[in-house]
Amino acid sequence: MAAIQNGSVVAVIGSGAMGSGIAQVAASAGHIVKLYDTRPEAVAKAIADIGAVYRKLADKQKMSAADADAATARLKSASSLGDVADAALVVEAIVENLDVKRSLFADLEGVVSDDCILATNTSSISVTAIAARLRRPQRLVGMHFFNPVPLMALVEVISGLATDSTVAQTVYDTAAGWGKNPVHAKSTPGFIVNRVARPYYAEGLRLLNEQAADPATIDAVLREAGGFRMGPFELMDLIGHDVNYSVTQSVFNAYYNDPRFTPSVIQQELVNAGFLGRKSGRGFYAYG
Ligand code: NAD
Repeated sequence: MAAIQNGSVVAVIGSGAMGSGIAQVAASAGHIVKLYDTRPEAVAKAIADIGAVYRKLADKQKMSAADADAATARLKSASSLGDVADAALVVEAIVENLDVKRSLFADLEGVVSDDCILATNTSSISVTAIAARLRRPQRLVGMHFFNPVPLMALVEVISGLATDSTVAQTVYDTAAGWGKNPVHAKSTPGFIVNRVARPYYAEGLRLLNEQAADPATIDAVLREAGGFRMGPFELMDLIGHDVNYSVTQSVFNAYYNDPRFTPSVIQQELVNAGFLGRKSGRGFYAYG
């Protein structure tokens, strides 16, 4: 199996931070991209935002005006799941919840063709578990992008126990064709990056809990002295506290409550308050 063919339909389910970035990258690569979200206004916003990005790139002469118009025209709004029946690849980027993802993929199996590949952008949930209830679990694979998707090159291609190796290779080749740097990994809690990054957030939150310094100071130290591109607090604000907190919970549960991964009460309170970071206008920092 080679990469998903240029010009074929890619469906993106969930049009939030990640879904809209994935849709942009797939449309830029020449696919017809169908966006679906339970909130139609999220689809409308994603298509408008991506169109604005293309126009800005054309204004800066980083792409021609004709290419910008053509890429925008490849973005289609799906008003129901039935509209994605002709997809060769479906990438799911909905809420980080096993039951909700399982239910979506069960519905999708009733809609798409037998050779359609189903991919999940989950950050931390077992790909094996998401696939387990499917009629054809071998066609489900993790396709884990990083935020912001158009700028971040890495894509983790995650195989669950049932994933067919040719399916994983097709998604790997597709990501490479989209200009990304894919890597194969097995389905373990947090995969590679989210596992290695957990202590970065956890120790930052522990320092804050112990009132060692405020977020801006800790972020500045990590950026300026540590050489990190972002400090832990600005990075959590970018990711979204709801997403980051549920990833920590999921890794904590998967490793039998290993204290290294204990979720933070400080972050839990941000989630309780709806202070989700950049996307809600407030997290550790305020955004105008
Ligand atoms: P988000 O909250 O920005 O967007 C999620 C979207 O999914 C929302 O628009 C919501 O309306 C929609 N949705 C929820 N349930 C749905 C359903 N059943 N069917 C269709 N649409 C539904 O979240 P996000 O940050 O884009 O994260 C999406 C997924 O990507 C999660 O699994 C997350 O763990 C993963 N992820 C997030 C990041 C990150 O940095 N934010 C990075 C990598 C992976």
